Amino acid sequence: MSSQFRIIAVGAGVAGLTASHVLQKAEGILKHWYYGRTVLAGDSVHKITPNIALGGNSTMESVVVLSNHLRRMLDAHDGGKPSRATLSKVFAAYQKEREPRMKEIMDFSGLITRLQAWDSILLKFLANWIIPYQPDVKIADQLGDIVKKAPKLEFTELENFEVGRVKWEDENIVMVKKVPVKDGSASTSTFMQFFGGMTALLSLLYVMNCFPSLYFS
Ligand SMILES: Cc1cc2nc3c(=O)[nH]c(=O)nc-3n(C[C@H](O)[C@H](O)[C@H](O)COP(=O)(O)OP(=O)(O)OC[C@H]3O[C@@H](n4cnc5c(N)ncnc54)[C@H](O)[C@@H]3O)c2cc1C
Repeated sequence: MSSQFRIIAVGAGVAGLTASHVLQKAEGILKHWYYGRTVLAGDSVHKITPNIALGGNSTMESVVVLSNHLRRMLDAHDGGKPSRATLSKVFAAYQKEREPRMKEIMDFSGLITRLQAWDSILLKFLANWIIPYQPDVKIADQLGDIVKKAPKLEFTELENFEVGRVKWEDENIVMVKKVPVKDGSASTSTFMQFFGGMTALLSLLYVMNCFPSLYFS
């Protein structure tokens, strides 16, 4: 099955050392996630590069979405045993809901992998001259934008759920206390942060829109 994923080669080395390796990282979303009464979730159907550490989270997300769909179907069937046709409909709905989300996560992860691997001159430039001048919080917010859209189990009650700086997209939680953000590049001036942010954003949009083949094979 792994042969159906795209394989990318990533150079790995540590500054100051003489040795380096080329690693294989698989990524991809399969077309078929279920057959009959069997359904898959996780790396077996949606594999992303490990750089943003969301592969395992995505696996859990898929299980959450599948559980929600199964639960809704069982409620509608009054707990009876579902037919194969009913299950197929549930599995198709589950796959349909998960595919765009997984595509978003896979593309972002793939971009970070290619940035960190200096996959092109432009990405090397961004990795060395733009991104290091970004405040840490900018990267965290980009990840937060992905994480806040995570699905949740529909049939469990949440109590005393802590409110963070980034709120869940589907919840109208009012931030009661501003959490202080420790900025890793405190010495960088506000102007440089703004300038660097705008340059990075424009460069990324330019690269992504005009040269997708530079980072997606
Ligand atoms: C270097 C690295 C770092 C990562 N860091 C993170 C991270 O920080 N956070 C995060 O969320 N994700 C991370 N991930 C991704 C995460 O590990 C995977 O997305 C996650 O483990 C996928 O879970 P899974 O259950 O789908 O597959 P797996 O964890 O691969 O589980 C599949 C299991 O099936 C077993 N198996 C295979 N074939 C058979 C067979 N024929 N019969 C019986 N058993 C079989 C395998 O031995 C394995 O135990 C990382 C991945 C890598 C490579």
